[in-house]
Amino acid sequence: MNPRRARRFPRSALTGLFLVVLALAPHPSWSQSDDSPNDISSPSEEVAPSTSANETSPNVSRVEVPAPSDLAVRFYRTGNAWWIFNLLWSFVVPLVILGSGLSVRLRDLAKRWTGGSWYLVVLVYFGLYLTLVSVIDLPFAYLLGFARPHAYGLSNQLLSKWIVDMLKGFGIGLLAAALFLWIPYLLLRRSPRRWWFYTSLAAIPLFLFVLLVTPLWIAPLFNDFGPMQDKALERRILDLAERSQVSAERVFEVDKSVDTKAVNAYVTGFAGSKRIVLWDTLLDRLSDDEVLFVMGHELGHYVLGHVRESILISSLGVFVLLFCLHRASEFVFRRWGNRLQIHSLADPAALPLIIILLNLGGLVASPASLAYSRWHEHEADRFALELTQDNAHGAQAFVALQTSNLSFPYPGPVFELFRSSHPPIGRRVEFCNEYRPWESGVKLRYGDRFLP
Ligand SMILES: [Zn+2]
Repeated sequence: MNPRRARRFPRSALTGLFLVVLALAPHPSWSQSDDSPNDISSPSEEVAPSTSANETSPNVSRVEVPAPSDLAVRFYRTGNAWWIFNLLWSFVVPLVILGSGLSVRLRDLAKRWTGGSWYLVVLVYFGLYLTLVSVIDLPFAYLLGFARPHAYGLSNQLLSKWIVDMLKGFGIGLLAAALFLWIPYLLLRRSPRRWWFYTSLAAIPLFLFVLLVTPLWIAPLFNDFGPMQDKALERRILDLAERSQVSAERVFEVDKSVDTKAVNAYVTGFAGSKRIVLWDTLLDRLSDDEVLFVMGHELGHYVLGHVRESILISSLGVFVLLFCLHRASEFVFRRWGNRLQIHSLADPAALPLIIILLNLGGLVASPASLAYSRWHEHEADRFALELTQDNAHGAQAFVALQTSNLSFPYPGPVFELFRSSHPPIGRRVEFCNEYRPWESGVKLRYGDRFLP
């Protein structure tokens, strides 16, 4: 359930001017996965939440929020430490490249290699920068993306798959730059005062394009997508989709078990590529009724148009972000331009400055954008409850998520403000226990959005 992101793209590419579009592309999923994976423990523990169901009267049983295991507490605490480190690191690296004069030297090198054609200089500079930062980040990418999930029993991904995926992400970053980086740089050259406005305008169709092609061309480079394997469960899932007037060819199963033991599902795409994707790990670990609740949640995102709405808000956000970037860069160049030997954002050597300012803007905007995401998630939970009226299995699905993904049920306020794209899982369990307006005859908020 949250607007994120192609997690496999290299961080440096994500923060590049073009790829900010990718980073903002909405991608509502079932669970928070920024800190990633999780799972668990033994198979018997995984099944435990489902078996605790009161099968005879599921709608009156209350599901308790389990206390986090010692492992989950450690995962939460070390995750917070890594988050702070990463945040600082995302500023320190470009700052050092900019302040040390390395950026200017890379730009001069690119000029010598290309003979000075402005766009080739931009491309070669970007390639050099991306390579440099990817190499610098490699140890941390390995620790966070591979070693850590393995250490917590959350992944059985092969090292070869991790390496190949990383190289693919790097290649996609370069290709995307070659295809689209000319847009902001051309606008910067043609209209130094209004480039931010025109670039924001150009970002809207680009957003839609990225959202259209990612499920069709990009995601299949990393995993296999197909129809559901379990045909009996598929029938029940498609019945639920039918009630929500979502057609069957929009539902996919993906083989995430090659990458992680965590469970999740998400809605993505635009127009012809709009789809609901269920991870095979989710189908494997949750009971059928719990999976149906998760499907109800995803249908909520789909039917309530959350992806579309996020695109609209993100597009407006880009105008504000680029305007702030424009004004802040003018200040920096006035103050330190001579010392940096950079006087305009059109100079490719200014890329680290763009990245620093985008990171800063993203950080400042994150409490608002995350609160917005949490609201979408809460409404999708409400939709799922109204559609299935299966409170117990909804609550159990979240308990299974908590144990499977080593989630911390009630994170602290700073975590929630800056990191939570989803409501705390403990509160989601509580909401599932409590929300039952149909029992008192109160009108359902989304009752007109699905067939009875
Ligand atoms: Zn969601």
